[in-house]
Amino acid sequence: MLRRSFPLLFLMLLAPAIASAQLKVVATTEDLGSLTREIGGDKVAVTSLAKGYQDPHFVDPKPSFILAVSRADLLIVVGRELEVGWLTPLLTSSRNSKIQPGSKGYLDASLTVKILEIPSGQITRAMGDVHPLGNPHYWLDPGNGRRMAQVIRDKLSELSPNDKALFAQRYTDFDQRLAAAEKRWDAAMAPYKGTKIVTYHRSWPNFMERFGLEVMGYVEPKPGIPPSPSHTVDLINEMKRLGAKLIVVEPYFDLKTPQAIANQTSGKVLILAPSVGGTKEATDYITLFDYDIGLLSSTLKQLAGK
Ligand SMILES: [Zn+2]
Repeated sequence: MLRRSFPLLFLMLLAPAIASAQLKVVATTEDLGSLTREIGGDKVAVTSLAKGYQDPHFVDPKPSFILAVSRADLLIVVGRELEVGWLTPLLTSSRNSKIQPGSKGYLDASLTVKILEIPSGQITRAMGDVHPLGNPHYWLDPGNGRRMAQVIRDKLSELSPNDKALFAQRYTDFDQRLAAAEKRWDAAMAPYKGTKIVTYHRSWPNFMERFGLEVMGYVEPKPGIPPSPSHTVDLINEMKRLGAKLIVVEPYFDLKTPQAIANQTSGKVLILAPSVGGTKEATDYITLFDYDIGLLSSTLKQLAGK
């Protein structure tokens, strides 16, 4: 009996050691999840909370989120108050002291990135659901993706020092693939430098600045505020004056107003993926840009030919 149960006992003793070799990481978005997998490989088990086709400002916390956060060794957040509406109650419910803000297992991925639109002066409710700590949609610049991958590498190395060399090597590999991809993306976008476009929400400033497009207006009158007839009329007039034709919309917004604007300006509505998982083709951080740049450049080519 003792003899027969020995292998089982041995496995039971070993099991926690095997489990602890893999860091349990919760990422608030699929972009952070993808970057964490790039660096962590099979040394991390990653759960991403918000799906890429959901508005990351407003996510319904599912019971499974609490479970994932309660078991996590590391929580990685976009920060800049992007998740402020839904993450704070989740952190409280999780009762996990390891991943609370300020703990070793909490990583704000925004600390070393380039942040745009940092407001100056006093912020009031009249400014809409403004991004008070600067624009939190910063992951849509591959330069920032690289900086995020660096802080993820450093944090994973801190929590799992034995795998430091592996994380460093995986980062180098990712960095090289990203640099090669940036050459492709730059070449595809080069003909359209300075093109004026409209976006629904302020999700794209980093992306558009990186690839040389100019955002001249927004379908939302203010961040988080639904379109209003007077703002829409003003926007249509301004688009006609500047010759802007393209309206970029995130997958989670209603298309009625953007479509009406396109009809009035002989323009075109384009749904781009703001995150990994925002469309089935965007399976990781690099294919996200492959998809968006491919669609954006072909649409701009089509509009230029009109
Ligand atoms: Zn936003």
